[in-house]
Amino acid sequence: MAVEFKDFAAVIEAPLNEDRSLAVIAEVKKLIPNKPIRWLVSTHHHWDHLGGVRAYVAQEGVTIILQEQNHAYYAEVLSVKPWLLKPDRLALAPPEEVAEGYTFEKVGQQYALTDGTKVMQVYNVQGLAHAQGMLMVYMPMERIVVEADLFTPPTQGATLPTMVAPAARTFYNNVQRLKLDPQTIAPIHGGRTYPWADFARYVTSASTN
Ligand SMILES: [Zn+2]
Repeated sequence: MAVEFKDFAAVIEAPLNEDRSLAVIAEVKKLIPNKPIRWLVSTHHHWDHLGGVRAYVAQEGVTIILQEQNHAYYAEVLSVKPWLLKPDRLALAPPEEVAEGYTFEKVGQQYALTDGTKVMQVYNVQGLAHAQGMLMVYMPMERIVVEADLFTPPTQGATLPTMVAPAARTFYNNVQRLKLDPQTIAPIHGGRTYPWADFARYVTSASTN
């Protein structure tokens, strides 16, 4: 997911690997031309969400916004060591900041990225069993909440499970706790957005497991 600011772009999530990330970066450059990708929000430390972080650092020199509990692991992921088998770009040409350790913005409970015209809020998701140190993103002007692994919309026409998954309930509780007022859920998984009102109705009316 890419967010366009006045002078730069921010990307949310760098999944899978370098090839995938280079393709996404090329697409972002097409959609948001002539602006550097300066920030990358990485929601949590599972490989399908962070496998591309090295590519973003090597290619774009991004600062990675992450939850502070994940810092040691990401520092390890980004470390530059001799890489003999199919070396990636970071291994071949490490930017100086990697060695100096300037590539992270560590979020405790919340962080706001703004250029004066647009605001992107980043929050720690509390009380989640799926992963410690999970971030979600909220765009207050657009009323869009971006989340990973908390709720994945069913494919068009399919029905939601009868039982509300614990992660979906945690997501709902965090949005309430933070007094956010989203209109739209933009999930990392699932391939489509989902109306918050429908999700809220589902969580509050369905049974708990
Ligand atoms: Zn995950």
